[in-house]
Amino acid sequence: MFETLSGRFSGVFDKLRGRGALSEADVAEAMREVRLAMLDADVALPVVKDFVNKVRERAVGQEVLDSISPGQAVAKIVNDALIDALGGAGAVPLNLNNAAPIPILMVGLQGSGKTTTSGKIALRLQTRERRRVLLASLDVQRPAAQLQLQQLAERARVASLPIVPGQTPVQIAQRAIETGRREGFDVVILDTAGRLSIDEALMEEVRQIRAATNPAETLLVVDAMTGQDAVNTAKAFNEAVGVSGVVMTRMDGDARGGAALSMRAITGAPIKLTGSGEKLEALEEFHPERVAGRILGLGDIAGLVEKASETLDHEESEKLALKMLRGKFDLDDYASQLRQIQKMGSIGGILDMLPGMGKLKGQLDESKLDTSVFKRHQAIISSMTKQERRTPDIIKASRKKRIAAGSGATVQEVNRLLKQFDDMSTMMKRINKLGAKGLMRQGLS
Ligand code: GDP
Repeated sequence: MFETLSGRFSGVFDKLRGRGALSEADVAEAMREVRLAMLDADVALPVVKDFVNKVRERAVGQEVLDSISPGQAVAKIVNDALIDALGGAGAVPLNLNNAAPIPILMVGLQGSGKTTTSGKIALRLQTRERRRVLLASLDVQRPAAQLQLQQLAERARVASLPIVPGQTPVQIAQRAIETGRREGFDVVILDTAGRLSIDEALMEEVRQIRAATNPAETLLVVDAMTGQDAVNTAKAFNEAVGVSGVVMTRMDGDARGGAALSMRAITGAPIKLTGSGEKLEALEEFHPERVAGRILGLGDIAGLVEKASETLDHEESEKLALKMLRGKFDLDDYASQLRQIQKMGSIGGILDMLPGMGKLKGQLDESKLDTSVFKRHQAIISSMTKQERRTPDIIKASRKKRIAAGSGATVQEVNRLLKQFDDMSTMMKRINKLGAKGLMRQGLS
């Protein structure tokens, strides 16, 4: 996400940084480019105007123009303005302080990802916050909707309200809260029906459910890919029913990111969470300062470390690290490492979080950043014998043919895997020699 902005902004700042002194004309020129970049990224016009004015005002001050590295000073001002536009520093957490069962109302248009997001939030609250969650679908419009939520709940191993045909949305909501109270649930997530577009009947239904349940959160789910429409939808929902927070889905698909930048100013509602994929784990807190860092190509190391610590199996990584240190890294370990990288999501997503990688990513072929190659490698490794995995050196032509046939791969693919393993082993040896400090230097230089 934000590739459009990130690429253009880095061009602007590279130019500014190259100068020892800045004139007002230089700043004006940079601001023109910033303005165009934001408009191309689909940021709402009033937000762009306000942003550029704020930055220009501060950037033409004498302090900045006289500073030793004016380009850097302007970048800092832009960074601060981005954080402001994104909603200010720090993530805004879900309000879960009320007495149990805490109702969370999910609203939004059909297809925005509302049901999926309900499942994601349920899974997150249950695994991270140890809350007992009950999921309930109030969608009586689409016949399959309640069933869809029930299946999602099973996938997330979260309880769902039994389906009783013929009830109205308000009746289902009340039954959900009663069940929550009776059975000791901490949180009850109410997934309302969506419509293809905003209509009064939808808003009235949401208002009635709200009045009947008094939710701690009314979360609006919007599709980031719809750009300005996402912002207009949020505005309409906020005016009609009032929302306490926004969840933006499909952040994985939106290269522009304009909706994220316009949301706060246009609707007043904070983005609380973002969805970045179809998997139930693909839900992130929205940290404006980290997102600003990504846009400016400063990376999001905090996010990366968090993601790694959440998704990786510590015991497995420790065992691996130990083996590497002893120089006993074999193909079984390689397969285990592939599994761990896969858990972290797409390689592209990981590159996004590394400082200075935005540009590199642009130069790489996105399709090659696909983790499916890891799945192929795992398949190939699993058709090797134990001995072959332990001592890959014995894998010569006839063994390669057998392994390729067994895993539906070509001999070339087997060769590529062995080469990659070899490269990795060489790298391990080098890292061992350098020690941890050397590794940091090497990685960051
Ligand atoms: P609803 O009609 O609003 O309840 O939408 P659904 O939850 O049924 O989602 C519609 C489609 O969007 C499904 O195929 C989901 O898997 C997909 N989806 C939901 N959230 C995300 C996301 O963050 N990223 C991507 N790529 N797909 C998503």
